[in-house]
Order: sequence, then C-alpha cells, then structure tokens
Amino acid sequence: YQVPNWSGGWFRVSDKGQMEVTPTPGLHAPLRSIIDDILERGESLPVILRFPQVVAGRVKQLNEAFGKAITEYGYTGHYQGVFPIKVNQRRMVVESVAAAGYEYAHGLEAGSKAELALCLAQRMHPDALLCCNGFKDDGFIKLALWGRSLGKNVVITLEKYGELDRVLKQARALGVKPALGVRFKLHARGSGQWEESGGDQAKFGLNAYEMLRVVERLKEEDMLDSLVMLHTHIGSQITDIRRVKVAVREATQTYAGLIAAGAQLKYLNVGGGLGVDYDGSKTTFYASMNYTLGEYAADVVYTVQETCKARGVPEPTIISESGRALTAHHAVLVMPVVDVTGPTRNLDTLAAPSEDSHQIVKDLADILGNLSARNYREMYNDAVGDKQTLHNLFDLGYVTLDDRARGEALFNAILRKIAKLIQGEKYVPDELEDLQKVLADQYICNFSLFQSLPDNWAIQALFPIVPLDRLNERPTRQGTLVDITCDSDGKIEKFIDLRDVKATLPLHEPGTKPYYLGIFLMGAYQDVLGSAHNLFGKVNEAHVTIRPGGRYHVDLFVRGQKARRMIESMGYEEPMLRDSIEDQADAALEAGTLTPEQETELLEDYGEELLGYTYLEYEEG
Ligand code: PLP
Repeated sequence: YQVPNWSGGWFRVSDKGQMEVTPTPGLHAPLRSIIDDILERGESLPVILRFPQVVAGRVKQLNEAFGKAITEYGYTGHYQGVFPIKVNQRRMVVESVAAAGYEYAHGLEAGSKAELALCLAQRMHPDALLCCNGFKDDGFIKLALWGRSLGKNVVITLEKYGELDRVLKQARALGVKPALGVRFKLHARGSGQWEESGGDQAKFGLNAYEMLRVVERLKEEDMLDSLVMLHTHIGSQITDIRRVKVAVREATQTYAGLIAAGAQLKYLNVGGGLGVDYDGSKTTFYASMNYTLGEYAADVVYTVQETCKARGVPEPTIISESGRALTAHHAVLVMPVVDVTGPTRNLDTLAAPSEDSHQIVKDLADILGNLSARNYREMYNDAVGDKQTLHNLFDLGYVTLDDRARGEALFNAILRKIAKLIQGEKYVPDELEDLQKVLADQYICNFSLFQSLPDNWAIQALFPIVPLDRLNERPTRQGTLVDITCDSDGKIEKFIDLRDVKATLPLHEPGTKPYYLGIFLMGAYQDVLGSAHNLFGKVNEAHVTIRPGGRYHVDLFVRGQKARRMIESMGYEEPMLRDSIEDQADAALEAGTLTPEQETELLEDYGEELLGYTYLEYEEG
C-alpha cells in the first residue's frame, strides 16, 4: 500500500499490522481502536476521522520551510501564508489553521461573500492577511472594507479591470482606505490537471496593459500606495517544480515592472499549487509531485530573490495561498466493507456437467481440465469463443438457464486458472492484460463516492486506500470498490501505484470480524465539492487528538446529515411527509391491511428513519 511513500510521516503501519496516525514524533494511535471506540458509543460508520494536530503540523511545516529558506538565502523579506478556505471551510479546519498560524501571521483567503463573512469572524494576527479573491459585487467590497475598519489586514484582489471603479466608489462612500491586490494573468502555465488556471485564456486576472492602467488610475487618484499586492496563481497540484520556478520568475519580473511604474508593492503572492504526493511516486504524474515542501519553499524564495537582485528592487513579503498541501493529510474516511461479490467467488462448489448438459458446457469443462502453462493462450481463445456461442444459443432458446449458469461459471474458473498460471510472468499476451481486472472482486463499501470522494468520480483523482488492520497478513484477493449509491459510476477502479495506476487493490478476504478501509489524504476539496446523490448526506465526523502513551481523545463527534435534512433540502417539509404516511396508514387500517399495532409500528419506523443516518446501518461485528 506504499504507506511510507505517501503518508508524509503522518501515518504508519504498526508492528501489529495496523494503520496508525502519528501527528508528532512519539504520538501515535491505531485508527482501528478509534473506530471501535466510536462504534461502542453507538455511533455509525462511515465516519471521517479528522486530526487537528495534523492540520497544525502542516501549517508549522509550511511556515518553517519558508523560514528556513529565508534564513539560508539571507532573504530580506518575509513569508506569510494565506489559507484559501474554499479548500475546506469546515470549522475544525479553519480554526485549526487560524490557531496554528497565529504565531506565523498566517492568514485566510475568501472567494465569496459567505466565505468573507466566515473569515472576518476568525481571530487572526493583526498582520495576517485576509485576501478577497473572486468576482465581487458592492456588498462583497463593502464587507471587505469594513474588515479594514475592524483592524484586519484585508486586501481586495482585483480580478478584472472593471472592479477598480467599483472598489474606489465604495471606499469613498465608506471613507475607508482600501488595500488592493491585482491578479495578473501569467503566460506561464501549471502542470497536471489544473493547467488551464493560468495563461491568456485564464478565467481570472488582468493582462499587462490592464494592470498598468490600474497603476495609472490609482496615480490619478493619488492612491498608488493602496496597491500593495501582486497576485498570481497557475493552478492547483503543480506536479513539476520547474513550472513553479518559471511562474515565480515571471511573477517577480512583473512585480519589478510595477515597481518601475511607480507602485509600492509590499506583497508578492505566488498563489496555490503546492502539491500533495497522493501516490508517493515523486514524479510529475498528476497524482504526485517531483519536489518536497522544503524544495518548494527554497525554490520560491531563491527565484524571487535572484530576480529582485537582478532588477534592483526590494525583496517583497512572499505570500503563498497553499490550501491542498495544508489540509489533505488531516482527514481519513473510514468505511466498512458490507459485502463482496465477484466472478470467481463460490466457484469451489462448481459441479461437473451432467450427461444432460449441453455440449458447449461440456467443451468448457474439457478446457478447464486440460489447461496448462503450455496451452493457456490457445485455450483462452477457445473459451472466449465457446462463451460467445453459449450466449448466442441461449438467446435462441437452445441452452437452458441452468446450462448458461454452469457454462459461465466454468468460463470464470478457466480465467482464474489462467490468472494463476501467468502470475509473475514477465510477458503477458495482450489479450490477457486486463485479466486481473475482469476477475476482480467487488468490495461493496458503505459510502457514497459522490458525497465523499467527488474528485475521484469527476477528474479521476487518486487517493491512497488501505485496510485499517491485518497489514501483517498478505492480501489474497484483488478487488475494486463500489459504493452504495444506485449509480454504476459509484465505484473506484483506479488505485495508486509507484509506476502506473493499478486497476485493482490487493485486499483481504473479509472474515468474521468487520473489515474497514480507510481513504487517506482526502482532506482537501472533497468535503466541499461532495454532492447528495441518492440523498446520501454528509457523513459522521470525529475530531480526534492523540495523546502520549498511544491514548487519544475524541474531542467532538459531529453527526452526519439525517434523512429528514436531505429530503427537506429538496423542498419537502417533514410534517407534510408524516401527514401523508399517516393518512395512508389510516386508510390501510380501514381497509384491513394493517392492524392498529402494525400501524403504530409502521409510523414509528418511518419516524425513526427520518431521523436516522442516510447510510447503511448494520450491526457491526
Ligand atoms: N489560490 C487561488 C486563487 C486558487 O484558485 C486556488 C485553487 O485552485 C488556491 C489558491 C489553492 O490552491 P492549492 O490548493 O493548490 O494550494
């Protein structure tokens, strides 16, 4: 499962074969124990385990990495981070970032009015920035300006030239001096899936001509000192460090150009993009990155300094809006496997064809009996042909359902035997390359992909998935994962691998004890983008801190959305639902299809489900 490669030291496998969270050296706790505890309290799975110490640890790592680079290069400016809350607006996350970031004056970024309202209420260091990005109306601008009156270091980023007039008008009306940033459309591009965020066709930002017009306009207004920040962003999850360097160089040249035009910028904002190594391969593959946090900080600081020196301009305070890198590691979705299906399961009871079986079934049985390492390729082709014939004959009514069942089972047994024969072979014929996927089990997991892992569905994002225990036991099955939505897209068929993407995940045969899988590194973007497909709602959450001696404490348990909430979000009202069921039950009582006791029980059950968790609730164990 490559745990040391992707975990960044926040998780490890214990000697007992269990996944443990390790928020600081010396502190560790097995996830399985936390889950058992939660179940003992009568709560249900799936659950997201959130570790505030991991968020705090990431904030510290980021700030210290920049601090180290600044000291090493003798950089004369500072570094200040800004957390874009769109990455995860959960209270625990925002408050953890704000608290851990206080000593570093780590700020927040809001991209909408609602996000700004949330950010303004946070306790922040007086120097910490509150960046307002995104398109803005008068209400957004006014709220941002009020933020300055509250003593917060609010900077309004101009995303379009037209926003300048709007801001100046509101600032005049309120009598508040604005602090402005300007987002520049770099021609440099990111790498990976968010490459389109930069470049001329980017959705946000001003071009060079527009930016210089902003400077001229502010000069005319005698407000040039209001322009404090140059903002850039070339996309999230930049996989290649060279792209970062190229973009930072262009951004710094632009900064120097603005200084030459008379601006007195204080901040150079290099945006987000700091990656997360989801697959641990340390490559430029979209789920990875070919650099470390330390290298990122060093390269940004060095490139800014080098360019500033060459242009003879002051070294600015460097801002990064790292979001993914701060929050991805802190959350793990834990889901129980509720069932396993698959083409090779239950084949051990496969009986030999009888006298009456159709000849095609007997042929398949012969292939199975004669299969060897010498002839498997030929036999495979014969078997595929026979299966096709079996289906054609069934469609025409010449093969019974019983023969079809037996024939299909024999075909699957043939594939299973071939898979064993070619296991470990260097050369695998083209037609057999997908065999493992075809034969894979489907592990049915109690979760909704659309609610909990939307990026896997939408953009094939990869996340490490690992059983919570039995990790000292070699897995004997290969599986794909399916969720409990009634949507055939609700499945995971791509898994991390150091060299490629794997089509199946090695898994254990679930035994008598419940088998739990953890989806790791899912703390960035997933919570926010999730949707209510099939009315599966937000999942339960446990906020857990780890204490010395392998102990831990569940600080807060937040129950997921109840069925009633999900139904109401679609415009229905609970009393209306209850009335309708009551009327129908009364009618059934009159018609004699329900007894009075049954009616009472039915209404109780209905009410209980309305108040219940939207996920499957089996007795665990
Ligand atoms: N800043 C801006 C303007 C963004 O659009 C984004 C997200 O794409 C971020 C910061 C956060 O980026 P990341 O999560 O890659 O750090």
